[in-house]
Amino acid sequence: MNHQHPDFCGIDIIPLPAFRDNYLWLLRRGTRAAVVDPGDAAVVERHLAAHGLALCAILITHHHADHIGGVAELVAERDIPVFGPAAEAIAGVNRPLSEGDTADLPELGIAFRTLEVPGHTRTHIAYLASGILFCGDTLFSAGCGRLLGGTAAQLHDSLRRLAELPDDTAVYCTHEYTLANLAFARAAEPSNAERDGWQVECARLRAAGRPTLPSRIGRERQINPFLRTTENGVIAAVAAHAGVRPAGSRECFAALRAWKDNF
Ligand SMILES: [Zn+2]
Repeated sequence: MNHQHPDFCGIDIIPLPAFRDNYLWLLRRGTRAAVVDPGDAAVVERHLAAHGLALCAILITHHHADHIGGVAELVAERDIPVFGPAAEAIAGVNRPLSEGDTADLPELGIAFRTLEVPGHTRTHIAYLASGILFCGDTLFSAGCGRLLGGTAAQLHDSLRRLAELPDDTAVYCTHEYTLANLAFARAAEPSNAERDGWQVECARLRAAGRPTLPSRIGRERQINPFLRTTENGVIAAVAAHAGVRPAGSRECFAALRAWKDNF
């Protein structure tokens, strides 16, 4: 399987499976590597050792244990930058980032721009560089993160922002939730041919043991009900489920999020 992203000459982005359904995304250029949300140090160390790589940086999107659990061990004998949200006290983070700040990874020849995307947590950030988005637990393929600190309005607005990125932006989220999300998406918008096509493709990928990620912003805008809260099909399904027609996009999103919580 080739994980090389065509926009990044010489950089591979590799999913390291961890826990039940996490991907720890590892960026690699030559013998240099960086890792996003290393919840498990052993998984990262094994890959570094097996491929003779030197870890140069860590990027953290938010403070949940499955995203930061490996940081202390990874930095114990390394003096490397650990980027993370400035608004949250996270042990090990030595490069706190706020909206618009740059996470510079000179060893890999990449610099990410910080987007504050609250909702899943109050202080969640995402990393964006020419066509590549690491969005943690904010946006998933066909779904979005739960509200574990932020508000529905915040997550709605954060997703709106991500949806405005160029269509071909590659979406690297942290969890392989796609098939389960697609089951809910079918309930939330019964008629959506693009979504049905993506479901067939994802079932094929999973049967072959392959990730459904990264997704693309353009695809998510077409298939992800949480980005489609102004579409008639979604509004009608939410109205039928909740017994009341949502007053607007934010209300539709909040009702959808609550519905999915108990789906
Ligand atoms: Zn989380």
